[in-house]
Amino acid sequence: MALLRRLAVNAPRSVRVLSSSPSSRVDDLDLNFNSPKDAFKSKKTSELVRAYFVYQICSVNWLVENNDMLMKRLRQVVGQRLFEMFMKATFYGQFVAGEDQNTIKPTIERLRSFGVKSILDYSVEEDLSQEEAEKREVSGSLNSEQLTELLKHGTGNFQEFILTGASISACGDKQEEGQLKQYHVEQRFADRRYKVTSARTYFYLNEASCEKNMEAFLKSIDAVAGITKSTGLMAIKLTALGRPQLLLQLSEVIMRARNYMQQIGGGTGNVLTHHKTIEDFQRYFGDHSSKPQVQEFMKKITSDKEGIVHLFPWSNILDEDMNLSDSFRVPDPKTGQMRRLISQISPKEEEMFRNMLRRLNHIIRIANDADVRIMIDAEQTYFQPAISRICLEMMRRYNKDKFLVFNTYQTYLKNTYQEILTDLEQAQRQNFYWGAKLVRGAYIEQERARAAAMGYEDPTCESVDATTVSFHKCLKEILSRVKGPNKERLGIMVASHNEDTVRYAIQLMKEHDIKPEDKVVCFGQLLGMCDHITFPLGQAGYSAYKYVPYGPVVEVLPYLSRRANENRGFLKKIKKEKKLILKEIVRRVATGQMFYKPDGHYTPV
Ligand SMILES: Cc1cc2nc3c(=O)[nH]c(=O)nc-3n(C[C@H](O)[C@H](O)[C@H](O)COP(=O)(O)OP(=O)(O)OC[C@H]3O[C@@H](n4cnc5c(N)ncnc54)[C@H](O)[C@@H]3O)c2cc1C
Repeated sequence: MALLRRLAVNAPRSVRVLSSSPSSRVDDLDLNFNSPKDAFKSKKTSELVRAYFVYQICSVNWLVENNDMLMKRLRQVVGQRLFEMFMKATFYGQFVAGEDQNTIKPTIERLRSFGVKSILDYSVEEDLSQEEAEKREVSGSLNSEQLTELLKHGTGNFQEFILTGASISACGDKQEEGQLKQYHVEQRFADRRYKVTSARTYFYLNEASCEKNMEAFLKSIDAVAGITKSTGLMAIKLTALGRPQLLLQLSEVIMRARNYMQQIGGGTGNVLTHHKTIEDFQRYFGDHSSKPQVQEFMKKITSDKEGIVHLFPWSNILDEDMNLSDSFRVPDPKTGQMRRLISQISPKEEEMFRNMLRRLNHIIRIANDADVRIMIDAEQTYFQPAISRICLEMMRRYNKDKFLVFNTYQTYLKNTYQEILTDLEQAQRQNFYWGAKLVRGAYIEQERARAAAMGYEDPTCESVDATTVSFHKCLKEILSRVKGPNKERLGIMVASHNEDTVRYAIQLMKEHDIKPEDKVVCFGQLLGMCDHITFPLGQAGYSAYKYVPYGPVVEVLPYLSRRANENRGFLKKIKKEKKLILKEIVRRVATGQMFYKPDGHYTPV
């Protein structure tokens, strides 16, 4: 941290960057992000006053803590129309771009004219009670027999049913039951919104609701293609597209496959990192190698041109006729008998899994046709092995000669650096473009509380500083590989509101001779937050993005509620932004520019 602070202090006041197009305007960049004029060129004075007011409210604990109740009361008292007007003049206006594809157009165009691109997010959320959320999560996690059993008990006895007999943790094969408890739903954490302020949560209702979510994503692709002229991006969450239980089960398989490799070959980590060959496996199985089931298994193992083994043919998970139960079986090295790494899955659940992948595949195919890039969000650690694996398979399929799919890596996790190393190796071995969004991570409090309550190791870094070290280590590793023929095949989004991290990324870009217009590195912040970082970056020719939520006022209230809460955790950043806003308002008043009209002539790279 000390080094970073020095970096900030010693940073040249400004850095000149080259323009990608001779006609577009390019500013100097103040690496201290202290210039109110640069930060708020794109804002009318009334918008600055609104931002100041909103941030002021976000600094009052009582208002933030009770924001949900207050918004509901206000709506009841003043009625829908006045409530919407009030929200548009305040929170909604600050953090949300508009109601639909048409109303967000002016915001997107204004961002563009000030050098900033957009990541669209249709932020409509169900406002579920805790009880309903738990109910959906748990019933979405039971297998067919357990569900039948639950229905027999009637939903009135739901809590009792969960807490007593039908332990959800009963999923998983007998041999290894209880070993990987983090990949099982736990009643106390069934409401996945618990202690999560900065990320959206989807709860599974049925397959039809997942289809509806897919349709919403497809609409967003249309909006990105039309409004941003395909410079924009689309964010999606895999938990919106299928039954979360299947992601848990797949995650568990992946972790069990790692344990299996450890058991037969020693070492730790991802299967690929063991660098084992088919011959190694033959040696491990010894006399059992000649058994028909072992030979059948060996035939299915995939390996690359150098003979390095991937235990399972992962690309098969995208096949229409893939069967989870049959695919994830391995020979026991002691007996040669086959054993399952996944719990028994009913044909209906197999179909649900294929549905989830079909939906994702469909979204990516449509995005490909529309030339819109897709970012797959990272979620809780118990889903992440599956999400990341599926994402890599999509990259392998679609990122052959361009960036289409981006994965997300949460650097607050202790193992992220290793995961990145393996995925980079896989991208190189299998020849696909590797695009990643690097974030710190949005679920820290829940991850820690869950690990403590369920008795497994806390997966997160021990302190804020350790998370920053992890973020910077990952960034350094990735950017050190951006050279030679690799230069065009790696793309990274630094998605952070942290000035030190943004400065560090810029320093690394210089060290590795990566120019802003190479578009290898881009930056991302949320709409309405840290404009003093995003706009100066965009105006100086860096590839800068705003994460742009949109949707009808009442339906984005849960999103707004989270923004208010998240802002409370950002007090230091807000303090600086408020100070800059105030300075700019005073400057405009003093210079007679109260009615300043933003008119940008920047072209985003
Ligand atoms: C464009 C964009 C996309 C995003 N997409 C995702 C996504 O897909 N998945 C996701 O999980 N998040 C996502 N996030 C949210 C992100 O992970 C962070 O929660 C948020 O951006 C705050 O981190 P920061 O670097 O901006 O700010 P900072 O204030 O520098 O960092 C705050 C973060 O530090 C970490 N932290 C805080 N306290 C501790 C502690 N005691 N010990 C260890 N670490 C700590 C936490 O991750 C916390 O969120 C996204 C953010 C942006 C801007």
